[in-house]
Amino acid sequence: MHWKSWDKVCLDKEDGGLGFKEIADFNTAMLAKQLWRLIEKPNALFSRVFKGRYFRNASPLDPIRSYSPSYGWRSISSARSLRLDRERWHFNQNGKYSVKSGYQVERVYPDVAKPPQVLGPTVDVLKAHWCIAVRKNLHARGLTGDICCDRCGAPEESINHVFFECPPARQVWALSQIPSNPTIFPTESLYTNMDHLFWRVLPKMDDHHFAWILWYIWKGRNNKVFSNLDIDPSETLKIAVTEAKIREDAQSVATSVIDRPIPDLPVIPGRWCFIDGSWKDKEVYSGQGWYSTLQGFAGLMGARNVRASLSPFHSEVEALIWAMECMRNLHQFRVTFATDCSQLVKMVSEPEEWPAFAAYLEDIKTLQNNFHSSDIIYVSRTHNRKADGLARGARTQASFVVHMDEKPPTWFTESV
Ligand SMILES: [Zn+2]
Repeated sequence: MHWKSWDKVCLDKEDGGLGFKEIADFNTAMLAKQLWRLIEKPNALFSRVFKGRYFRNASPLDPIRSYSPSYGWRSISSARSLRLDRERWHFNQNGKYSVKSGYQVERVYPDVAKPPQVLGPTVDVLKAHWCIAVRKNLHARGLTGDICCDRCGAPEESINHVFFECPPARQVWALSQIPSNPTIFPTESLYTNMDHLFWRVLPKMDDHHFAWILWYIWKGRNNKVFSNLDIDPSETLKIAVTEAKIREDAQSVATSVIDRPIPDLPVIPGRWCFIDGSWKDKEVYSGQGWYSTLQGFAGLMGARNVRASLSPFHSEVEALIWAMECMRNLHQFRVTFATDCSQLVKMVSEPEEWPAFAAYLEDIKTLQNNFHSSDIIYVSRTHNRKADGLARGARTQASFVVHMDEKPPTWFTESV
């Protein structure tokens, strides 16, 4: 979650922040992304945590009061100003919210009820008011005094000068990972520079290092102006990078705990055979199921029940053996067997560690000799739903059943 790394940058300038509206709006756009996730993925743990605490019987878009809102929730709910919609986000072609389009809406149409449907990247959004207390701005507001740059003696300290052109700032950018090129970045145009950071760098480097670099360049400048301290550019960059890294780590820890995405299946060509066993204490039967795929062909499936095995793990092992027999009998010689039982993968890869299953392992080894390749890999339960459904369906039958076809068995009620 990004809001933490932005709260400092977005303070008003009186409170020591940069005070420029661009960054504040960008923050809103980032927060709106969290809000969007609450709407789009109501069942993600992230959403359930917030729902349980803040909008139990409502939508995250409803105005809800909480007596002790967390910092995170206050921030997220503040992004409601961006007019997120229950059905879709209207300002992006694919109907999905993105930080970039959210930022554009907030920048360009802060008070307009109905902005146009789709917006493209534009630098106009950056032509907004900057209110940083640099010398040139103070002078323009009638404040008297020198408008020279304290760091390099340049005759005019403009915003672009402080952040991009003053030699110490220029050096920081040159040392940084931000791609630079004399004709593109940094240039004498503030809009071109900010455009570069927001639209070219940000989508590729999603870590927001640049915001921290801006922040510490500003601090370096203030150290000179107020304390006559010279901060070395490499030092400035080091602090900025460290700070960005700390924030990023804190964030990735948080997201990995609350919202772990289901990994994609590995790309392995050839026939796959998803397998599963089903077992329940004190039941007469255990179930075995497999679902086999080969690109360009209809799926094949098998399901049967057998006298209950000793444990759930035994039923997984027996399901593998039966699926291997079926594949061999169907003359399939290259098959990737996929299970959601990680113990099974372990057992087959290190048979000597599993003496209690020696007899099963002997069967598996003999069967493997019939295949050119017969790897056994682990997949998530989500990817193994069909085999699981077949195994459970077979287990709960009242008598012995066995089925192998392109279609589910007639006794099978769920769709596979
Ligand atoms: Zn300067």
